[in-house]
Amino acid sequence: MPLISIVVPCYNEQESLPIFLKELDDVVRIMTQQDPGISFEAVLIDDGSADKTLAVMKAEAAAAHPYAIRWHSFSRNFGKEAALLAGLQHAKGDYVATMDADMQDPPSLLPQMYEILQTEDYDNVATRRTTREGEPPIRSFCARMFYKIINRISKADIVDGARDFRLMKRPMVNAIISMGEYNRFSKGIYGWVGFKTKWLPYVNVNRVAGETKWSFWSLLLYSIDGIVAFSTAPLSLAALTGIVFCLIAILGFIVILVKTLVWGDPVGGWPSLACLITLFGGMQLLCLGIIGEYLAKAYLETKRRPIYIIRESNEESDDTAQ
Ligand code: UDP
Ligand code: MG
Repeated sequence: MPLISIVVPCYNEQESLPIFLKELDDVVRIMTQQDPGISFEAVLIDDGSADKTLAVMKAEAAAAHPYAIRWHSFSRNFGKEAALLAGLQHAKGDYVATMDADMQDPPSLLPQMYEILQTEDYDNVATRRTTREGEPPIRSFCARMFYKIINRISKADIVDGARDFRLMKRPMVNAIISMGEYNRFSKGIYGWVGFKTKWLPYVNVNRVAGETKWSFWSLLLYSIDGIVAFSTAPLSLAALTGIVFCLIAILGFIVILVKTLVWGDPVGGWPSLACLITLFGGMQLLCLGIIGEYLAKAYLETKRRPIYIIRESNEESDDTAQ
């Protein structure tokens, strides 16, 4: 009897969560009618919400749903990546879906996704939005640039427009859990573990209530995290820049030497010298900064801190930290 787990990270989703669960109820009823052999569970992760999300979760877990609700509440906000990991680690299903609570990942796609995994030779079905409607143009532009760059410099296949809405078979879930890194970038992790992915395009929908937790700045930092986590190209680039500037300096030295010896030109122009010193100073600081990014990430990895800490849960035998 296959069990399907629905993992939902929630951060300040008191308005969206009931709407989401209601829609999920309908979808689950339809699916179990078609195939009475399947059962469902919802794994809700409260990522340290400041609003009444946890109270809503408790109430929903006590209410009647065609699936069991298991919830885990973090001791503070650890971020969506940590919440996703917690959900995957606590999901018991043979199939696991990860979904947002804001209805941007329509539960109505689940039957189709499950059907594909039943009939075709795929390990997971992932969704990709075809439009970026409702998003500021500058954000869309930066997102496109990011995907272009990271796919050039990273081996992991990171798809533009891919959402974190997936339905995966157990082996893939285990592979993702086995990636114990502290700096988690799930778009990269999905690509890195491989497996056969079927892409399901759909038109972007806006969130049903509340606000996105991503500001432009946090997205920018997240994209740098992604690059550092899945590529070492910036380090090579720093070294390459160093080599290029050394070559230019040697050439410049020869030119000045020849000019002085042949024509006896006095070496003039301190402004150009000042500019050069500033340029090289800047380049050196930039390269140091790049090395520093990697060093900082390595430092955090070596501390082996837990990725999340659970404060409260409706499941017994819950280990508090992972
Ligand atoms: N989320 C979370 N922790 C966070 C930020 C977000 O668990 O620190 C959850 C949020 O509740 C939602 C999902 O991650 O279910 C996606 O968040 P959001 O809608 O803000 O992102 P967007 O859809 O705008 O990319
Ligand atoms: Mg959203």
